[in-house]
Amino acid sequence: MKKTKIFSAAAALAAAPIFAGVYGDLPDAKHAWCVHDRNRPNPVKITAEAGMPPSDAIILFDGTKETFEKNWCSAKDGGPTQWKFVDGVLESVKRAGYIATKQSFGDCQLHLEWSAPVKVEGVGQGRGNSGVFLMGSYEVQVLDSFETDPAKDPNPNPNYADGQAAAVYAENPPLVNASRAPGVWQTYDIVFHQPVWDGLKMVHPGSLTVFHNGVLVQDHWEMEGLTTHRKRRPLAPHATRLPLQLQDHGNPVRFRNIWIREIPSRYANVTHGGPAADENAVMALRRKTAAQLFAKIEKPVKPTIENMEALGEVIGYAREGAYEKAWQETANAFHDVLDKMTDAEWAAKKTELLKLRETLDILIRAGVVPQKCGTRKRISAAALRLGWEK
Ligand code: MG
Repeated sequence: MKKTKIFSAAAALAAAPIFAGVYGDLPDAKHAWCVHDRNRPNPVKITAEAGMPPSDAIILFDGTKETFEKNWCSAKDGGPTQWKFVDGVLESVKRAGYIATKQSFGDCQLHLEWSAPVKVEGVGQGRGNSGVFLMGSYEVQVLDSFETDPAKDPNPNPNYADGQAAAVYAENPPLVNASRAPGVWQTYDIVFHQPVWDGLKMVHPGSLTVFHNGVLVQDHWEMEGLTTHRKRRPLAPHATRLPLQLQDHGNPVRFRNIWIREIPSRYANVTHGGPAADENAVMALRRKTAAQLFAKIEKPVKPTIENMEALGEVIGYAREGAYEKAWQETANAFHDVLDKMTDAEWAAKKTELLKLRETLDILIRAGVVPQKCGTRKRISAAALRLGWEK
């Protein structure tokens, strides 16, 4: 039974690519769109070729000196940095200080590749240390953490867990240690949401999700503070866009293939569910959509199946004023049409009429149309009489 329904829906969509009409549950106080709503805007199309940055990414470093000089500066004074550009890679230089992007970012998806020095030197936080500082304030640690167990390696780098590679430094160790050997390129793919504030009141602490070499190591970690050392440092409001920084911790860590995509805050979405859904904004968008759809219906409204579908869709968004009146009047006139139809005419419109009944069922379920709906009653009586359903 289910298979038949899926096939029918697919066939209907194939036949009518610009399918509109009510198909899923209606908008409600927190959702401006129906379930499976064809009026809902489609996402922007981008390209995402294998091994390439997505087409909407901002390339921060692609192995050319041009992208290095265009996008990066000294975090200290905004001037040129002393970090080295060698053979298509970027290398931190001791005492050169952090580098920062010239551009500022907020919530983002960030990709970068790094490698710890081939020449293994130093211990603990002194071995292959750098860091990715989102907004200059939240560090995803870069460190040579390839082997931390003295029982497994003659030259291990044991360290505190919240300071090893892929830790949210001083807060949360990675879920696993996915580190590769010194000198081997490693990837970080980071999804960052900054804390959200309402004045001095925190709405959400923000979050970090990190994939290290493709492995999930930070699973939507909600930040507890600004990056710190030894002492806890609470979150505090800051500008909503700030430069990305890479740390100079005295070790020659290398970087390549750095790109970033700006992403919206979840709190920017106020019209289709989620934590910031706003009932006033939802209703405003529902009214706007209803007005646009109502304007497309030819006036005076003829009592046809198509117009019953179209008006049903309109009142699904906003049952009020002119729409309500048009629905009532058209439904009344449509009843007269149905009452005069021969069985042959009913049979010829079977598919459309049963679809209209599905629409009415959704409207009834949402309380937009009363249970005792005259149109539905007539279609069901005909369906029974003509043997459309067992
Ligand atoms: Mg560091």
